[in-house]
Amino acid sequence: MKEFENKHQTLIIRKDRRLLKHAIRAISRWFLCLGCKLCELVCPTNAIKVVKNSKGYRPSIDSSKCIGCLLCNNLCPVGTFYAKAIMDEQK
Ligand code: SF4
Ligand code: SF4
Repeated sequence: MKEFENKHQTLIIRKDRRLLKHAIRAISRWFLCLGCKLCELVCPTNAIKVVKNSKGYRPSIDSSKCIGCLLCNNLCPVGTFYAKAIMDEQK
């Protein structure tokens, strides 16, 4: 029973860390987008457009086209950098 609980807890922690990583990526790319447009290039459904406003660049997603593949989140250099930096800090 104890072994089962430990395995279950490990799975939950792994899942939480994955969710946390995606959340950090999404938040950092929204606020710190560099406008490189890599996310536009990799999106398989053309759901994402990078727009520039008075606050800088912002990735804008058309939810009716987005299939949730997370390619944009996984490949964004800003999101990747901050997620790694913050997750490494937690180790
Ligand atoms: S890949 Fe990231 S930094 Fe580049 S435009 Fe998209 S959201 Fe911005
Ligand atoms: S999650 Fe996938 S489909 Fe949605 S905007 Fe990002 S790359 Fe495009």
